[in-house]
Amino acid sequence: MTDKRKKACPNTSCHTYKQKKYDASLNFCPICGEKLIYVCKNPKCFKPIEDKGPYHTMCEECIAHREDIKDEIMNDAKKAGKAVLGIGPTIVAAIKSETVKEITKTTKKAVHNVFNKIKK
Ligand SMILES: [Zn+2]
Ligand SMILES: [Zn+2]
Repeated sequence: MTDKRKKACPNTSCHTYKQKKYDASLNFCPICGEKLIYVCKNPKCFKPIEDKGPYHTMCEECIAHREDIKDEIMNDAKKAGKAVLGIGPTIVAAIKSETVKEITKTTKKAVHNVFNKIKK
C-alpha cells in the first residue's frame, strides 16, 4: 500500500517550515536539504508524529479532535435528519471532499518543487 503520511521540514529558518507538507516518499526538503520529519496529515496541523507505520497519519491531538468532530457531526446529523431528511450525509461528504482537496493541493506543490530541483 502507499504511505499516506505527510512529512515536513523541521528547519525553522526554511520558508517551507510550517507552510508545506511533502509526501512520505520524500526524505529531504527540496528547498533547504534538511531531513524531513513525519508530521500530522491534518492540513492545519504541523505537529511531528512518531514513525509508527503508514497507518499512523495524525497526531494524538487531531485524532482525539477528529473523534469529537465525528460525534458532533453524528449528533447534528441525527438532529438535522429529523428536520430535513438526508442533510447528514451531505455534511459528512462536504467535510471529506474539503480534506481531500487540501491534501491534493499540498501534494501537487511538493511534486512541482521536486521537478524544479531536477531542472536545476
Ligand atoms: Zn526546508
Ligand atoms: Zn495534528
